[in-house]
Amino acid sequence: MPRIIRLNQVLANQIAAGEVIERPASVVKELIENSLDARANRVEISIENGGSALIQVRDNGTGIHPDDLLLAFDRHATSKIAETNDLERITTLGFRGEALASMSSVSRMSLTSAMSGHNAFQVNVDGTSTLSQVTPAAHPVGTTVEVRDLFFNTPARRKFLRSEKTEFDHVDELVKRMALSAFSVDFTLKHQQKLIRHYRPARTEIEQSQRVASLCGEAFVENAVFFETEACELKIAGWLGLPTFSRAQADLQYFFVNGRMVRDRTISHAIRTAFHDVMYGSRHPAFVLFFTIAPDQVDVNVHPAKYEVRFRESRLVHDFIRRSIQDTLASLHVNQQGVVGELSDRVGIPDTVKISSHTIPPKMQQTLPLHVNEKMSVYRALQQEIPNTQSDIAPMIHEIPPLGFALAQLKNIYILAENSEGLVLVDMHAAHERVLYEQLKQQWADANIIAQPLLIPLTIVFSEREVDCLLSQTDTFLKCGMQIERLAQDRIVIRSVPAILREGELEQLMRDVVSDFMMHEKSSRIEETIHHFLGTLACHAAVHARKRLSIPEMNTLLRAMENTNNSGHCNHGRPTTKQFTFAELDRFFLRGR
Ligand code: ADP
Ligand code: MG
Repeated sequence: MPRIIRLNQVLANQIAAGEVIERPASVVKELIENSLDARANRVEISIENGGSALIQVRDNGTGIHPDDLLLAFDRHATSKIAETNDLERITTLGFRGEALASMSSVSRMSLTSAMSGHNAFQVNVDGTSTLSQVTPAAHPVGTTVEVRDLFFNTPARRKFLRSEKTEFDHVDELVKRMALSAFSVDFTLKHQQKLIRHYRPARTEIEQSQRVASLCGEAFVENAVFFETEACELKIAGWLGLPTFSRAQADLQYFFVNGRMVRDRTISHAIRTAFHDVMYGSRHPAFVLFFTIAPDQVDVNVHPAKYEVRFRESRLVHDFIRRSIQDTLASLHVNQQGVVGELSDRVGIPDTVKISSHTIPPKMQQTLPLHVNEKMSVYRALQQEIPNTQSDIAPMIHEIPPLGFALAQLKNIYILAENSEGLVLVDMHAAHERVLYEQLKQQWADANIIAQPLLIPLTIVFSEREVDCLLSQTDTFLKCGMQIERLAQDRIVIRSVPAILREGELEQLMRDVVSDFMMHEKSSRIEETIHHFLGTLACHAAVHARKRLSIPEMNTLLRAMENTNNSGHCNHGRPTTKQFTFAELDRFFLRGR
């Protein structure tokens, strides 16, 4: 074994660089973070050859004091913290004092900076030597950093670089994230001198939603709601994609903690749990969310590139995020267009798009405009056709309910209804399923699911493993109104069922349930499993598509939907209603042109 030696500074920095500087995009990240920490409101990024030839970041921030220019390149040299206590309340993006040192050890760098009241100076640092000089330069207040020939002296790293296009795509994605995190900053991104992106500062809510639209696509903003929740000194705000806008990949998920984009298990789990009720398990929600927490409640010093964080009270954070999202999703039921209307106004979506994209009718007018009054006579006439069996319809005569009144049934699958805005289409099975599911969840929470004994107990044959699995959940079943017992190794008997399941096909239900439980057997996600079970129950108890409903029955369902959380989507995330406004219909039929 050779003897121990102390590594020289360049080599030590190159080793440190391994952790933070993986590719051009990592350089861009560190440089933009420095610009934002210096309170710049304009950041210009210029890239040559995907970043392997040149990465230049220019800002109009505070600049660096001339006497500190060389020091900035030393490892563990920073202006952002000074003592141990500071580590516990970090409000800047950087604090490790490593980025410039690391970058300069694997590239040819120059930094030009001017502070207000001082002349501008430049430092040139070359990865092969520790010698560098400060020379006078011309530069307005702010800083420009150039990183050339990245990894020129670490060929192993350079080999890992992908094509220029791929590397530039990574830079592009990175700039996008930074632009999401700092709405008030003007960003430009050039590749080979060509302007590729320009994100203008966004101050008003409308400008912000436009910026989100330009970063994440128009479709996202049109299919998202903006919300804001604050409690226990925690705050979450942002755009939540509707369950119907779910994606096959987790590729539209941006979560910022105090302005820092992070990937965190606690957070992902909280969001997934919040969505599990309204979305297929294999789909991924889309969101751009900003979480604010006191700096001393979060440790950002757990990852070299600071992609991860640790919360002091992770349970509190988890529950706060889950609840906020759950409540927001639940508030999207059809009876609360007031909320949706207001949210949509904030994100600046024009009315027609808002209505059709949320599949929810807009806010009811307090004073009904003329055309609605005209409609009233139609409803009155309609009212006379309905036998007076539906007492809940009578009071509606003065007020058109959000989902309107049923007109007919289409193919025994869809309900056609008319409301003040136009035509409403309802998928009756999906809608009924949601209504029952929400009822069941409530009854479950109140331990109030009513059981009904079976006159003739039902015996079902399963595999032995399936029987084991079902019996391990005996208590869960009991709480749901189902009494099950083992009859033999391979069969069970059902003695009672939830009263709600009047005419369901019990055997099919149990087969669905067992495969569900088998899938979730090893997971500890009890609540999720139970909700799954309740969902299956609801699905079996809901009116089947292709069943004929009378007009009063349809109206009863519409009223129930208006009073049900999440009723805009069935529990698999499919929409339950679709509004066609008169304006849309007129446009389609080229009326009034
Ligand atoms: P850190 O950001 O963790 O402090 P860096 O190596 O990234 O470490 O930067 C070292 C120091 O150089 C910073 O603390 C800051 O004072 C200064 N600095 C770097 N970039 C800029 C910039 N664009 N504007 C102003 N100061 C900067
Ligand atoms: Mg930094």
